[in-house]
Amino acid sequence: MDPFLATASVVLGLALGSFLNVCIYRLPRGMSVLNPRWSACPNCKQPIAFYDNVPVLSWLLLRGRCRKCKAPISPRYLLIEVLTAALFLACSWQFGMTLATLKYWTLAFLLLGLIFTDAETKLLPDKMTLTGLGLGIVFSLFVPVNDLAAQFLPVSLPVSSDISSRLLSLADSLLGAAVGASFIYGAGAIYLRARGIEGMGFGDVKLMAMIGSFLGVKLTVFTIFAASIAGSIFGVSTILMVWVKRTRRFVERRHLTLHDARQRAWHSAQTMYRHYEMPFGVFLGSMAMLAFFFGKQFLDWYWRLL
Ligand SMILES: [Zn+2]
Repeated sequence: MDPFLATASVVLGLALGSFLNVCIYRLPRGMSVLNPRWSACPNCKQPIAFYDNVPVLSWLLLRGRCRKCKAPISPRYLLIEVLTAALFLACSWQFGMTLATLKYWTLAFLLLGLIFTDAETKLLPDKMTLTGLGLGIVFSLFVPVNDLAAQFLPVSLPVSSDISSRLLSLADSLLGAAVGASFIYGAGAIYLRARGIEGMGFGDVKLMAMIGSFLGVKLTVFTIFAASIAGSIFGVSTILMVWVKRTRRFVERRHLTLHDARQRAWHSAQTMYRHYEMPFGVFLGSMAMLAFFFGKQFLDWYWRLL
């Protein structure tokens, strides 16, 4: 890999990761990401000096604490900067010095931001999802999505082959957005009927429209299926963990018999789960990342199995 591109990816990733931390903190709170220019400590509200705002290094040197009030600063700040740099490097390693790299940098940046805002606040800000949807559609004009429309529609449009391939790519992007959004909208409606609570909100619908506009129909379907499997595994293991923990507590503190403790703990784990709102955007976002790195290989392997 070109050492210049590698270095540029890491430096840009660290800088944009630092900006992404600002977005993750401010966007769900309805604050502007550009104004004020300087970040402030969430605890003492003192502005953070530029030399304390160097990606990764500052957090390590200050040992994750504010210089002024010593309040702990979440390791999420460090994690986001490292992850953004790593993903940027992975994209340029896979796609080289092309527009595709720029497209997947954009997608990685947006997905990372959305995964963390959903995990922390259960919100998926429109400023990320809808802006992302627009960007995905625009990128399709320059980086071919190469999906269903490009493969199955007749290419004999009455325009030059360059324009017609751009139009097919645009169609694939719009189709991906439509399929992603309606899938989640439909699943949300079924879920609401079945469980009586809202499992997926409009945030998830817009998130999936954005992912679809970048990835096209096939990888969108892959993302949704992979996310449902990952979400189910997470849900089942959460229930089991709570069950085991509460059984132990009932035996130790209330001196119930193991049989009674198990039954009671099972009941209370179920009640907890019924009121638990799963951040489904976290699963959609992370599976979309898997999709753009490994989805094509996975689909090829899957078709060969059939
Ligand atoms: Zn402080």
